[in-house]
Amino acid sequence: MTAEPAMARGRGAAGPLIEVGDLTKVYGEGATAVHALRGVSLSIGPGEFVAIMGPSGSGKSTFMHLLGCLDRPSSGSYRLAGVEVSRLSRDQLADIRSRQIGFVFQSFNLLPRTAALENVELPMLYAGVDRGERMRRARALLENVGLGDRVDHRPSELSGGQQQRVAIARALANGAPLLMADEPTGNLDSASSIEIMTLFRRLNRERGITVVVVTHDMNVAAWSGRVVIFKDGLVTDDRPVAEVVPASVMAGVAAAPAARGDRA
Ligand code: ADP
Repeated sequence: MTAEPAMARGRGAAGPLIEVGDLTKVYGEGATAVHALRGVSLSIGPGEFVAIMGPSGSGKSTFMHLLGCLDRPSSGSYRLAGVEVSRLSRDQLADIRSRQIGFVFQSFNLLPRTAALENVELPMLYAGVDRGERMRRARALLENVGLGDRVDHRPSELSGGQQQRVAIARALANGAPLLMADEPTGNLDSASSIEIMTLFRRLNRERGITVVVVTHDMNVAAWSGRVVIFKDGLVTDDRPVAEVVPASVMAGVAAAPAARGDRA
């Protein structure tokens, strides 16, 4: 894959991890065309933690699909780790996804009849990692998310928060520098939400993983460092979290029990 050497260089480079310019996405044609994105320009540096917010229909999911290399823009540029990916083929995009991006979904998307360990092994299986190494890495990842004693449990034997932690371990399995999460706490109670956001923050701070989270919830956005707001297919606001999220909500993050030992 020709993009790989530049990708490897891009990872360590000081430049942005994500750089989009005048990105547009139109669904359909003619009179029924929907202009979901109308020209979005944005840079996200390595190690940032960004929350994407905005009303329903504002283009957040479309934008995440493009950032996640799940779809291609109608026009505009997208450089991921220094490589222009907006016009790559579907196979090339799949290759970039498997190396560069870990996905976390609202509904966890774990294989139901499969143990946590094997769920985490799956991306490594697709990437051709041998069995011993897969198991070793999956075990280490599950330990890292606090589930070392649950590796043999199936999703139905785990709480929602635990299932989402398995999904996060899986998202990290191929060593991707970028985690993208779409409403990752949407199916969780508030205690589990705090647990999951604490984990994202730790991965961001300790491992330098870049995190991009779509959420409608200020309590979730409060864990990020920067909030980007979409409206009608455009970015209408892009500011540090403390300028967007009310102080009372930020105080809740500071007081979260799990966050205290996390701030070193
Ligand atoms: P959000 O995630 O902010 O709710 P979306 O990106 O899902 O916004 O949607 C933006 C606009 O694009 C909406 O008008 C939506 O109906 C439309 N849209 C999204 N996906 C499709 C699709 N696959 N086909 C046609 N229209 C779509």
